[in-house]
Amino acid sequence: MSDCIFCKIARKELKSTIVLETEKLVAIKDINPQAPTHILIMPKAHYSTMNDCDDREILADMLDAAKKIARDLGIDKRGYRTVINTNSEGGQTVFHLHMHFMGGKPLAGRMG
Ligand code: AMP
Ligand code: ZN
Repeated sequence: MSDCIFCKIARKELKSTIVLETEKLVAIKDINPQAPTHILIMPKAHYSTMNDCDDREILADMLDAAKKIARDLGIDKRGYRTVINTNSEGGQTVFHLHMHFMGGKPLAGRMG
């Protein structure tokens, strides 16, 4: 997808702050953070939504990346939130599969 902003970020054609990169995924800082730590974990390959991704390995890799980021930031024990928004009623605005990783303050009771 040549005009997809997250594909461009994954290809390093658009600037972003990368916090983790593997062969298949990249994790970047969200430009409009909703928590002290707000990171987006996404596959390098383009899937418009979670509905379009049948690659169980990349979905598992995204969860593993969240666990690693939490450990690296030292917030795994305090806790954090992972969210995948899907399509309009799920609140998805960028149509390249990504998982929000949020933490650094108490989030209990608030969803999104
Ligand atoms: P969603 O609403 O689940 O599709 O989330 C899209 C997220 O992408 C929002 O939290 C935006 O702030 C974030 N975002 C959009 N453009 C960029 C960008 N160029 N770099 C980093 N984050 C972005
Ligand atoms: Zn894309």
